[in-house]
Amino acid sequence: MSGSLQATVTLQNHFAREMPQMALPWRAEDFPDRRMVVLNEPLATELGLDPAFLRDEDGLRFLTGALDLEGATPVAQAYAGHQFGGYSPRLGDGRALLLGEIADAGGRLRDIHLKGSGPTPFSRSGDGMAAQGPMLREYIVSEAMHALGIPTTRSLAVVATGQKVYRETVLPGAVLARVASSHLRVGSFQYAAARGDLELLRRLVDHALDRHHPELLQAENRPLALLHAVLSAQASLVAQWMHVGFVHGVMNTDNMTISGETIDYGPCAFVDAYDPAAVYSSIDLAGRYAYRNQPAMAGWNLARFAEALLPAIHDDREQAIALAQDALNTFVPQYSAAWTSGFLAKLGLRDDLEEAVAVPLLEDLLTLMQGSRVDFTSFFRRLGQAARGRPEPAREIFIDLAGFDAWAERWQALAPDADAMDAVNPIYIPRNHLVEEALAAADEGDLEPLTRLVDAVTRPYTERTGLERYAEPAPESFGKYRTFCGT
Ligand code: AMP
Ligand code: MG
Repeated sequence: MSGSLQATVTLQNHFAREMPQMALPWRAEDFPDRRMVVLNEPLATELGLDPAFLRDEDGLRFLTGALDLEGATPVAQAYAGHQFGGYSPRLGDGRALLLGEIADAGGRLRDIHLKGSGPTPFSRSGDGMAAQGPMLREYIVSEAMHALGIPTTRSLAVVATGQKVYRETVLPGAVLARVASSHLRVGSFQYAAARGDLELLRRLVDHALDRHHPELLQAENRPLALLHAVLSAQASLVAQWMHVGFVHGVMNTDNMTISGETIDYGPCAFVDAYDPAAVYSSIDLAGRYAYRNQPAMAGWNLARFAEALLPAIHDDREQAIALAQDALNTFVPQYSAAWTSGFLAKLGLRDDLEEAVAVPLLEDLLTLMQGSRVDFTSFFRRLGQAARGRPEPAREIFIDLAGFDAWAERWQALAPDADAMDAVNPIYIPRNHLVEEALAAADEGDLEPLTRLVDAVTRPYTERTGLERYAEPAPESFGKYRTFCGT
């Protein structure tokens, strides 16, 4: 790392200055009784921020939006979005603020964003607040995703506000300080497009390229180049979700980034007993965002993104549609290639294995796993032992033993690499029951379970003694898991 840690903060305001039509200057609510719940010290250091400063009174004020910084322009961002298929022309940051951007140790711009920082003109009927539990949940899961090597927004800190938040019950309030390579969403482009202002749309394209793909500013057709880049990033991202059994839960277009980072950990969960129809969100009654639907829903969102870009892609609408359609057609093959190659890696197999062998091998395995309701995460780790000649730990979790044996014989014949498997198959993920346990304890003032869980899931591939229960599926008594939106 170059440079020294800062006892003050320098925030830039690129988004606020370059996109003023989509940035409403606003102030966070003042929370006099703020108190640190959890600070991500490695991330602070990566951002050039001194953890000791952040824990101090001024640091806590900074992390809740109450520190006035010269040159900073905190804004609520405007965006639109399709929520469960229905279009809302005006969503925006109803309980969040973009404080500004920080150049990190590598010189990259990172957004510093607050969630739960009080009402804004975009709050609609919401109170602008966040409860501590859901903010800690985002902290745990986003840091786990990062440790798994999956692109994601990061969590810098959760600060308790000292105020009560009224949901089904009365809960402690908190602010999450989130770090992202940007907060541009598909819904940001839908918002710009809906204003019918082509100059605004083009400026947003250039802003996004400058932020994420500066080399593409030279492209002949910049909006089309952006579309291609986002298609690739999202194809890769959603494939990686599938490889770890992650169900995002609320893949609305306002929750899909242009950067290709996972964002907005609301009703998300990890699949335990493998079921492609797994869905956890209490409001997703139709299973729109179920595990198996995620690639199709990503494709649907990206079609909305392409639509928003049409006027910028070409003056002639027919030609714009043809170009956008050609781009969209690349999504499925890119996703499929990423899906296959990631699952082959989980099986310790080379990714140049013939597709005619690879795809049936994977599909047959998933069918067997579903039939026996096998725990998704621990199965792949146990299979690593099978590659070392000890099939029993993997085998014993199947009901259909003959089916597993026949499959394992086909797989073994391909000479799987056990060490390679252990490097990509996590032992520790934020299992739903462990997350709930940590959040409940934190609400009672006990941060120990949270600390231990974060420690486990941020080193997910290294087996450690004492962490056995973090590798186990939920006890039977945990029952069917439900998650809640709008928390
Ligand atoms: P989400 O699906 O959680 O990303 O949120 C969708 C929209 O609802 C965004 O515009 C949020 O800012 C807004 N929202 C969610 N919760 C609240 C709240 N408690 N108060 C105000 N706005 C909210
Ligand atoms: Mg959102």
